[in-house]
Amino acid sequence: MTALAKIIRSLIEQGGPMPIDRYMSLCLGHPEHGYYMTRDPFGTSGDFTTAPEVSQVFGELIGVWCVSVWQAMGSPRAFALVELGPGRGTLMADVLRVASRVEALAKGVQIHLVETSPVLREAQRSRVPKATWHASVASLPALPTIIIANEFFDALPIRQFERRNGRVFERCVGLMDGQFVPGLAPSPYVMAIAGEGVFEDGSIRNAMARQLGDHLQKSTGAALIIDYGHLRSALGETLQALRSHAFADVLQQPGNVDLTSHVDFEQLARGFATGGAKIAGVLSQSEFLMRMGLEQRTTVLARTLQGEAQASLHAASTRLASPAQMGHLFKVLAVTGGGLAQPYPFGET
Ligand code: SAH
Repeated sequence: MTALAKIIRSLIEQGGPMPIDRYMSLCLGHPEHGYYMTRDPFGTSGDFTTAPEVSQVFGELIGVWCVSVWQAMGSPRAFALVELGPGRGTLMADVLRVASRVEALAKGVQIHLVETSPVLREAQRSRVPKATWHASVASLPALPTIIIANEFFDALPIRQFERRNGRVFERCVGLMDGQFVPGLAPSPYVMAIAGEGVFEDGSIRNAMARQLGDHLQKSTGAALIIDYGHLRSALGETLQALRSHAFADVLQQPGNVDLTSHVDFEQLARGFATGGAKIAGVLSQSEFLMRMGLEQRTTVLARTLQGEAQASLHAASTRLASPAQMGHLFKVLAVTGGGLAQPYPFGET
């Protein structure tokens, strides 16, 4: 039994079955034993691979997007470039390599990283040395702001509710013979979707979106949120555990496996809108990257490479955009605040 499993077991013994959001938040964020607090989980030797780790082109195209938004903001002399959950810092390093070519932008940019993991903060420091770190979005500066986040919201806890024979229950983690087992507790929760089945409530995610929407509205700016998920709220269970690139049991090895769930972009967008931001649009990752020039950038970069390196660059771009791989499952949501016009390439047809 992991050290964290023992802690969770005694919490359940004392307090009764534990709702999923509390379980997820301990598994991922326990200060000593939480999954992200103790390791760098990325890449082939880790548990999963994210888009910035697949190809530098991903971050470069987001860099181009940031430059266009900065220009639309009136090229502010000082502005905050914020990343939520930057992992190894690869995305921000690729963004900055492109964006810093614009001299006035490079002069005025202040980099702010929102990250709770000490291990990953170290990794970020080595790639993005001139940054300011934050434990939450509450301390972000009151400056014109561009926010980016890749695979951040899926790592924030959710609650699960289930309607069975017309009655609503909250899904919990219970104990039986010393083992964790799934359980159901009767709940007064009002499920937003009709029908029998599981509804995943993203209120922690949505509260953060509301806070960010408020910040963008007051400080002017835009956010680009990339994650896997669905456009419309629906019944369905998506909570999953990952270890070494394979699905694992959510209740086994707490703290040693990654726990995530698909992002409900309808709920998340509503969160931003409640905070005062305007929804600029949602595109599939495929559509977003193609409109930003994925093919052109890949071709230019490929000219500098040969043989296997060239082939793997092409394969990486295909992986990011192909509908059968990351292209359709991943969505890109853009929001703006403070009267900023709809940013390219949202609203294009
Ligand atoms: N964006 C990166 C990493 C995604 S993994 C990439 O695309 O490669 C999720 C990231 O969010 C990690 O850096 C993790 O430590 C961070 N994280 C998870 N929960 C967080 C929280 N509540 N506050 C801040 N950062 C968090």
